[in-house]
Amino acid sequence: MDISVVVPLFNEEESLTELTRWIERVMAANGFSYEIIFVNDGSTDSSQRVVRSLAEGNPNIHSISFARNYGKSPALNEGFRKAQGDVVITMDADLQDSPDEIPELYRMIMAEGYDLVSGWKKKRYDPLSKTIPTKLFNATARKVSGIRNLHDFNCGLKAYRKEVVKHIEVYGDMHRYIPYLAKNAGYKKIGEKVVQHQARKYGHTKFGLDRFVNGYLDLATLWFQSSFGVKPMHLFGLLGSAMFIIGLLAVLVVLVLKIVSMCHDGFAFYVTNSVYFYLSLACMIMGLQFFLTGFIGELITRNSPERNNYLIAEEF
Ligand code: UDP
Ligand code: MG
Repeated sequence: MDISVVVPLFNEEESLTELTRWIERVMAANGFSYEIIFVNDGSTDSSQRVVRSLAEGNPNIHSISFARNYGKSPALNEGFRKAQGDVVITMDADLQDSPDEIPELYRMIMAEGYDLVSGWKKKRYDPLSKTIPTKLFNATARKVSGIRNLHDFNCGLKAYRKEVVKHIEVYGDMHRYIPYLAKNAGYKKIGEKVVQHQARKYGHTKFGLDRFVNGYLDLATLWFQSSFGVKPMHLFGLLGSAMFIIGLLAVLVVLVLKIVSMCHDGFAFYVTNSVYFYLSLACMIMGLQFFLTGFIGELITRNSPERNNYLIAEEF
């Protein structure tokens, strides 16, 4: 099978028929063998009924329907598990992404050898409250992930070599960082294609402004995982040692001050009167905590099934 189109959807009843007809047209025009996997993320409207009736008319349409709303990432993850096409395309259900992009995305994967091609909504039809923070967010993501050629990490329209989606796990809200997940899994050839974007035709956006706060927190998590995921002690040990050294220096200062004051005035001041005493106390306690966190991290890592997951490019 050439292509699997994975469509996560949450209350998108109005768009589904139009989207399906459009994908069918594109596939027929290009002679692709394909499947469409609608992952219904716990819709409370009649989306699933629409999907069922669409599937009756077309054996290429499949569906996974969640019992409740879990989020876009879990929806993509389950769609990826089911996908069988050589190229897997993800696409939002709200008609903001155009199925006309599919043939070129397919070509970039198959002919140009990309592992992942991410859409870039160069001209966006979204409110300013969304587009401006998005620019900032993408700049940070580029910096942190080291994938410098991507302008639009969170574009719903993406294409993957099948192998890629079988080797990544999208969970929580990590769909914003799939290129980063793919890079961490060892897939380096990540490209971009400018894609047409449209204003939402029906319904409303399913994500609020909290996407930006959560987006940054997730980015921090991924950065930590990719840098120290299997060696947490390298970070916590460093922080712990630094704290401990500062604490130790502060203790020495307290000691010296005490001796000097004793020799000078014949009177030893209370150590609790010195700011350095509190500094040493705080730093040593924090240092110890960093170390303990590091040790616990190492114990957890040792038990992680991911600790020896490598993508091997060649083996004789
Ligand atoms: N979506 C989903 N589960 C959710 C939220 C959204 O499956 O919990 C789907 C939604 O139906 C749409 C896609 O993810 O197909 C993108 O969502 P939306 O269009 O609301 O995001 P935006 O375009 O505003 O970034
Ligand atoms: Mg949308």
